[in-house]
Amino acid sequence: MKEPALHIVMVGHVDHGKSTVIGRLLYDTKALPEGTIDKVKRIAKETGKPFEYAYLLDAFEEEQKQGITIDTTQLQFKTAKREYVIIDAPGHQEFLKNMISGASNAEVAFLIVDAARGVEEQTKRHAYILRLLGIKKIYVLINKMDLVDYQQAKFEAVKQQVADFLATLHLKPAGYLPISAYYGENLLKTSKKLAWYHGKSFIETLDQIETADQPIDKPLRLPIQDVFKFDDRRIIAGRIEAGTLKVGDQITIYPSGRQTEVTAFANWAPKDAKAQASAGQSVGIMLKEEFFNQRGEVITRTDEQANAPIVTNVLQTNLFWMGQAPLVTGKVYKLKIATQQVNVKVLKILKVTDAATLAARKDAEVKLNDVAEVVFQAEQPLVYDFFDQQHVTGRFVVVDGYDVAGGGTITEKYQGEVALK
Ligand code: GDP
Repeated sequence: MKEPALHIVMVGHVDHGKSTVIGRLLYDTKALPEGTIDKVKRIAKETGKPFEYAYLLDAFEEEQKQGITIDTTQLQFKTAKREYVIIDAPGHQEFLKNMISGASNAEVAFLIVDAARGVEEQTKRHAYILRLLGIKKIYVLINKMDLVDYQQAKFEAVKQQVADFLATLHLKPAGYLPISAYYGENLLKTSKKLAWYHGKSFIETLDQIETADQPIDKPLRLPIQDVFKFDDRRIIAGRIEAGTLKVGDQITIYPSGRQTEVTAFANWAPKDAKAQASAGQSVGIMLKEEFFNQRGEVITRTDEQANAPIVTNVLQTNLFWMGQAPLVTGKVYKLKIATQQVNVKVLKILKVTDAATLAARKDAEVKLNDVAEVVFQAEQPLVYDFFDQQHVTGRFVVVDGYDVAGGGTITEKYQGEVALK
């Protein structure tokens, strides 16, 4: 069987070499059409600029735009083993938006650090975002090893510096790789210049990463996307985010808590009554009773109620803020969890941390690039899970007007008092 594609994300402080790593990867794995590099080299020469592998990214995106692929934020390449999708976020805000809205789901992150410069402000901020998003598999690429004469001592020193910082976030990388993206050292193959390094090359490392399975063993979460009406029948459509479901299953629908039974799948395996649909599949189901279900509600299995989702009006969140206007107490936003969208008011700002310095501030506002613990009060009940138990129903996005202004995860229940108005 063909291996599924692995989604990876590259982050790092500006100029530490993210675009060069990606450009070089596309080049080395021959993801670029014949002649592209010559063309880009020629243009660089004509305009009097030195050649940059980073330029290949633009050329590649241009190619993809002209082809069928419209999503230019996803760059693809393949090795003998499988396909890869690089989620190229020009900045951490785009990355965060993509990740939280579920548009892209990176399983593995590569944090790029310049060997000559070490940890800088955005290195820290990006690491913080990775933690917030729950991306556990992190590799550190210590780039520009050519600038430090491929010295092991320099690599070890930067490695230690990165490790010390990540430890403050309780992050432990799966590996550290010395590379020179510009010269292609230790990317495709291990490098003679790095003879002291006995680990795998970047591509070898990629190829041995195991893709995570769909969360089939978890309790069912089927957020309703749409309800279609045909005569007097209704078909409830959605993507199974976790668990399994089959005809005859007793279900409990939140936030109402109403219970009924699945009588049929509209689009799927209608003849085989024993077949079950599972995480990752989109389904249309029919129910025994008609509750006038709506988009946003979450279907669970009645036999799995020991792990029922939480239904609440008050939500405590770990929030990363990227809105131009600060988040302030009392202001109303739209909050989205899976397919739910609810108006919420900021009830309390419990804690504000600068994501770059990790210094806590006593503040009444959450500003651009801050991380904060914020409590929201919703206009109507919300259904959620803790992020470590259920990813899709455990993360959220905050919309201010028409813009995604923040997002994050839910890891705790609010314990404070709430004066309900
Ligand atoms: P980004 O901002 O992280 O995407 O960084 P770029 O990929 O644009 O690289 C910034 C600069 O560092 C460019 O001038 C690159 O040519 C240079 N660079 C990237 N990787 C290396 C490397 O391995 N060695 C050296 N000497 N320069 C590099």
